[in-house]
Amino acid sequence: MKKHNFSAGPSILPQEVFQKAAEAILDFNGMGLSLLEISHRSKEFVAVMDEARAIVKRLMNLGDDYEVLYLQGGASLQFLMVPMNLLTENGKAAYLDTGTWAAGAIKEAKKIGNVDVVASSKDANYSFIPKDYTVGSEYDYFHCTSNNTIFGTQIKEFPHVDTLMACDMSSDIFSRQLDFSKFDLIYAGAQKNMGPAGTTLVVVKKDILGKTGRNIPTYLDYAVHIAKESMANTPPVFAVYASYLTLKHLEDNGGIAAAEQKNNAKAKLLYDEIDRNPNFQGVAAVEDRSFMNVTFTLTDESKKEAFDNAWKAAGISGLNGHRSVGGYRASIYNAMPIESVQVLVDVMKSI
Ligand code: PMP
Repeated sequence: MKKHNFSAGPSILPQEVFQKAAEAILDFNGMGLSLLEISHRSKEFVAVMDEARAIVKRLMNLGDDYEVLYLQGGASLQFLMVPMNLLTENGKAAYLDTGTWAAGAIKEAKKIGNVDVVASSKDANYSFIPKDYTVGSEYDYFHCTSNNTIFGTQIKEFPHVDTLMACDMSSDIFSRQLDFSKFDLIYAGAQKNMGPAGTTLVVVKKDILGKTGRNIPTYLDYAVHIAKESMANTPPVFAVYASYLTLKHLEDNGGIAAAEQKNNAKAKLLYDEIDRNPNFQGVAAVEDRSFMNVTFTLTDESKKEAFDNAWKAAGISGLNGHRSVGGYRASIYNAMPIESVQVLVDVMKSI
């Protein structure tokens, strides 16, 4: 029986994507060859890469001033590539510290240059999103994390900043409508809302590049990957293809607007139960609650065994919280059907 998969990542993808990806491994587009054994320079794969890049711009409603890249190294490598490409030798960058991944980005950027942490919720175990800060034009760029996968918080309203805005959207990309043109650089490890692990999406405004005065190592230079159309070296062909299938599935099913509606309904269903049921309490500040990663704890630890047994018996998987938060985390990414959330809510009602 297929499980109700609440895993934080790698995570649930549309069933249709699993099916089509599996078919392509056996026989890609009727070629008599597997997707995994053809050249990345074949016209068949180049068409995949071209379409995978184009669909991102369509979904995000972005024009030709942006470039779309599929890179490797995960979001973690972007922690380094962003400052390498945007931070001038004597300049400084502004970072918002909202969680483990934001802190990871800060740590890496500090190895490259000057970094100011403009606000942090670390002292509150990252249970809220700081809002009381300003970012002036003295900074080369501002970096934030749109959704904090581990703690279950999400930026609902992005700040106005007087500099470039770079955002790690790994865990809520394509989940809600945003004015993506407000961002100068967006990146996301694919393995949540957009595909399997193995590729990282980077969306970058072309005219912000080439201004640091740094001698950027070839592989870390966005301009190189742009010039080579994400084929500077052999791309992760399977991850790019499965990401393309996921984004095509999104586009064919009403795009981000339709996904957002479903995500809002799923989040409401689950948070309403957390707020109604005296056995549970939410971890994140109410106004900053993530609509992708719902973190909660039991109010009475003696019910743990009963609850754990009940959700496992209901076919639920991947509900344990991250070790730094404890409790439970229900990740309800785009591909999660509301019926699965209802199964979890029914289990919560039953204990
Ligand atoms: N940023 C966020 C918000 C994440 O959730 C994660 C991984 N869960 C990362 C960065 C790190 O991504 P990767 O494993 O692709 O390096």
